[in-house]
Amino acid sequence: MTTTTTTTTCHTCGALFPYEPILCFGRDLGAHLGKECPACQARAEKQRREEKEEERMQQAYQMLCATLPPDLRATEEEHPEFNRALWRVVGRWHPSAGQRTLGIIGPAARCKTRALALLARRVISGGTRVCWTSAVRLKDAAHDRMSREREISALAREHLRECLTAPWLFLDDLGKNEWTGAFESQLFQILDHRLNHHLPTAWTANDHPEAFLPVISPLNASPIIGRLLDRCTMVDLRERE
Ligand SMILES: [Zn+2]
Repeated sequence: MTTTTTTTTCHTCGALFPYEPILCFGRDLGAHLGKECPACQARAEKQRREEKEEERMQQAYQMLCATLPPDLRATEEEHPEFNRALWRVVGRWHPSAGQRTLGIIGPAARCKTRALALLARRVISGGTRVCWTSAVRLKDAAHDRMSREREISALAREHLRECLTAPWLFLDDLGKNEWTGAFESQLFQILDHRLNHHLPTAWTANDHPEAFLPVISPLNASPIIGRLLDRCTMVDLRERE
């Protein structure tokens, strides 16, 4: 097998360009292949890359729409009332071996949920699936999973499974929920499973988890609070007043 350089015509633009046939017993093994000049090849490759990027952005946008409510989806970093100081801290957070959980504590109207939503948006735009829930929704799901209406129980179980296994979990407004046995049991399983499987969780609460001690049942209080604080980066807005 030998190679010699010759010229050939680009099948896309018609230009002549240097071409190296793959000769085998005098025949060009590449003769039946379409031949493109380097400029056309580069253009086609650029177009393929752009189409792939466009497709990735489309998928991320669909994932975003399926995950975040429209109002949170539209969170603007530039909005005058947006807590940019909080976002500067939250936006820089990445899970690591020592920090699997992000907790944001602080009073209402300090943009905790919006900062959480922006973080969710960042993760989604990187192509990662997330589960978004609130403590109240989780509590409802914990009860609905036992519903006698099959559609309701199926939806609830699906949501709980997502909370358990999604690559990221965003859990908003802990403490707004009622602490029922069913909720406590599901919350513990979710937090425990996620820590054991190195799946990041980000939560918000109006108060430090230790404040939940008197309201969670004695059996579940320490396990739940312990999981919330395990390997947790805490952003405490109460300290920043
Ligand atoms: Zn060409």
